Amino acid sequence: MTYLFETEEHAALRAQARRFAQEHIAPHAAQWDEAEEFPVELYRQIAATGLAGVGYPEEVGGSGGTLGHVLAVSEELVLAGTSVGAVVGLGSHGIAAPPIVRFGTAEPGGGSDVAGLTTRAVRDGDHYVVTGAKTFITSGCRADWVLAAVRTGGSGHGGISFLVIEKGTPGFHVSKKLKKTGWWASDTAELAFDGCRVPVANRIGGEHGAFPVIMANFAGERLMLAGQCVAIAELAHREARRYAKERAAFGKPIAGFQVIRHKLADMATQIAAARALTGEAVVRSDRGEMVPALCAMAKNAATDMCSAVVDAAVQIHGGMGYMREVVVERLYRDARLYPIGGGTREIMNEIISKAEGY
Ligand SMILES: Cc1cc2nc3c(=O)[nH]c(=O)nc-3n(C[C@H](O)[C@H](O)[C@H](O)COP(=O)(O)OP(=O)(O)OC[C@H]3O[C@@H](n4cnc5c(N)ncnc54)[C@H](O)[C@@H]3O)c2cc1C
Repeated sequence: MTYLFETEEHAALRAQARRFAQEHIAPHAAQWDEAEEFPVELYRQIAATGLAGVGYPEEVGGSGGTLGHVLAVSEELVLAGTSVGAVVGLGSHGIAAPPIVRFGTAEPGGGSDVAGLTTRAVRDGDHYVVTGAKTFITSGCRADWVLAAVRTGGSGHGGISFLVIEKGTPGFHVSKKLKKTGWWASDTAELAFDGCRVPVANRIGGEHGAFPVIMANFAGERLMLAGQCVAIAELAHREARRYAKERAAFGKPIAGFQVIRHKLADMATQIAAARALTGEAVVRSDRGEMVPALCAMAKNAATDMCSAVVDAAVQIHGGMGYMREVVVERLYRDARLYPIGGGTREIMNEIISKAEGY
């Protein structure tokens, strides 16, 4: 199934992403998960196809397209590649790049409580001196540049700026590679800044002006995560359906038991419902509407659905579902991040409950 808004252009992109994932990701998915990273070369390979640039303007080296196109590519990479970790690692520029595209110039230019972040940057001539730490940073272990939100002003949302900080800058280092429940092929870092001097020219946007940009980026990020949940669930459903036809018990394939068939039917229905809500939020966002509550609803609906569907897929696999060699075991672990990352389930409900007329 695809989103209702999709056109032939989306179908062509999906086909391209599917081919890429089948050739470059799927054969290595299990091995990269165990290794807890994938080769850096994969970034170059996907960049060469133009798929990594979908959603970014052609003037800055992107491939054009809207959120709907980004979602179609990301979904197909998950479905055909079967490595959520590799796909989120490949897409981690989706957090850092949009503010740079929006506010960067051609010159060199935490947590739930975003406005409470504490990494400090103190102006010293034409540099900022950055001190603090960042945790849970996707692809942070090997990024050549990081986009850091730092406190340049007073407390609250009015005192935050964006700085691009280059790997190798004295005072900046990766303090830890974090071990996670899932998303193993995607590295997650703890970063440390200790008197790290960053040129003022590396600031993206106005001084103290980062908070609205962070907020604006959340809609796209949350819908990307919702779309990944739809894809993970669809993959889990496919795997469970295939297994139910192959696995025999009491003299017949387990798909012959009504309880299994109905479980699969419930899973398909839950996926379709989350896909419809996510699709509506994508269409409205692509039209330029600001719909933070709808995006939050889509994320919560998709993450809840995904948790339930991967759990059911493991159950249909029986003991096999608990084994590292099957895809649904990996998806079960990968799915747990989604009600946490990109704004937690509870924070989404705060947004929804504060919206007018929800
Ligand atoms: C694998 C992984 C990758 C990540 N990648 C990135 C990344 O690349 N870049 C990045 O910036 N961040 C990243 N994150 C961080 C992620 O966005 C945060 O973990 C998430 O927003 C939750 O923040 P927290 O962990 O500080 O939890 P906390 O804010 O400490 O929340 C703890 C609990 O309290 C609840 N809570 C907090 N405030 C409220 C409230 N007001 N009302 C009700 N409940 C509340 C939360 O919902 C949660 O249940 C990543 C996280 C993980 C685990």
